[in-house]
Amino acid sequence: GRWGFGLAGELRQAAARSPRRIAVVDDERQTTYAQLLDRAEKLASGLPAAPGERVGVLCRNSARMIEALVGITTLGADPVLMNTGLSPGQLAAVAEAQGLRALILDDEFAAKVALVDGLEKIGEERFEELIATAPPRSASVPPERPGRTIVLTSGTTGVPKGARRPTPGGFRPLCSVIDRIPLRAQDRVLIAAPLFHTWGFAGLQIALALRATVVLRRKFDPAAILDDLRKHSCTGMIAVPVMVQQLMELPEPAEKPALRVVAVSGSALPGGLATRFMDRYGDVLYNLYGSTEASWVSIATPADLRFAPDTAGRPPHGTRVAVLGEHGEPLPPGRVGRLFVGNEMLFEGYTNGASRAMHEGLLATGDLGHLDPAGRVYVDGREDDMIVSGGENVYPAEVEGLLADLPQVREVAVIGVPDDEYGQRLAAYLVLRDGATLDAEAVREHVRHHRARFSVPRDVIFLDALPRNATGKVVGRELPR
Ligand code: ATP
Repeated sequence: GRWGFGLAGELRQAAARSPRRIAVVDDERQTTYAQLLDRAEKLASGLPAAPGERVGVLCRNSARMIEALVGITTLGADPVLMNTGLSPGQLAAVAEAQGLRALILDDEFAAKVALVDGLEKIGEERFEELIATAPPRSASVPPERPGRTIVLTSGTTGVPKGARRPTPGGFRPLCSVIDRIPLRAQDRVLIAAPLFHTWGFAGLQIALALRATVVLRRKFDPAAILDDLRKHSCTGMIAVPVMVQQLMELPEPAEKPALRVVAVSGSALPGGLATRFMDRYGDVLYNLYGSTEASWVSIATPADLRFAPDTAGRPPHGTRVAVLGEHGEPLPPGRVGRLFVGNEMLFEGYTNGASRAMHEGLLATGDLGHLDPAGRVYVDGREDDMIVSGGENVYPAEVEGLLADLPQVREVAVIGVPDDEYGQRLAAYLVLRDGATLDAEAVREHVRHHRARFSVPRDVIFLDALPRNATGKVVGRELPR
């Protein structure tokens, strides 16, 4: 794992200092730091891969998945984190494009990778066998080679791309995050975000580096998670915004978990949700804005969110953010432009050789946004998502925020659809709260009341649920037309 430091190295240190501390609680067992390291090192000595080769990991959150990641990097090979939501065709394409030598998978995905061939597939039984038959580890474990973890982008915009994370740049970049988010060794942290995604993976690295106890569940079920938080006395949670929203759909619990830190990232956190969550669970919410390519761009603390619920906060130490206009000129606070970021953890390009736009050492995030006079960052949406209707620019996120304020509305997505007359027009997709009623004209009227005419959705479509990927992003191309 290479988010600025080695996952295997961190685990080795943690196991040396706190061998008997519980590292992971998952659906099957409790694993101490010493056990986790021991199993990972045994796996490393049995894995059919050589240093420099790539090994895919297709697992739900579990101790086994961590053992796989640490085992692969201990061997000096590069783990490729595969999104469990990919289709059989996409998985085959990824295996091929990444040149995988082997694939470690949960048994439930065996049918999904039936199409993948030319590599060794290591299911759950084989995994245990490799560990059980490993030669004594002192003789077999080669020194750690600086490897790279390859994280796939989620592919909401097409075929998932492999992003190469940089080699260790020291502990500093991670510290700048921990600096803002007060997690510590005594914490028990429930990582609800998938570990195959940048955010869950980063959360795991933070937790292991702190020698905290991590609670993992294979599936996200809001009621069960709330139960887990209380049962395991969790003080921290790492999630994506849609999970927080689902927790808020539950009735207010009489006995609340004693949370200190709830950190979310991966997609926009609606301001109204941030406020409602903190009103119920206290000022414990942190909103991190970043991407697979850029790593961290900014972090909002509870104080930031109380001041401005929509903000993505401020850049951590060592990170520079700029909002640039069409010709690369810096824009003043309040003006929306292209968001650029500079730090020591920018990705090193896609595995297919492609790159991203740069400007004077800063990477284009692919997002549009603005700053406030205090330097807080606001994400107004993705460049690709911007709708141009009748020559006017409309940010779907802005209209989504407006519609989310309607008390009847539970979830909303706004996209642009082709229009003969205007080039593009707005389509709004709404999921209503149980028992609520709302008609299309009332939706349009609400927008008309607050925004210019070109922001009013012509199409208003009511759905039972929005199509979402594993990190909770709405998959636009799966919305019915
Ligand atoms: P793909 O490009 O294949 O769709 P992905 O972009 O979904 O994959 P990520 O790297 O996790 O994978 O997505 C990063 C993007 O998610 C950011 O560029 C931004 O648009 C959005 N995002 C992440 N965190 C936040 C946040 N806190 N607030 C607003 N937007 C966010």
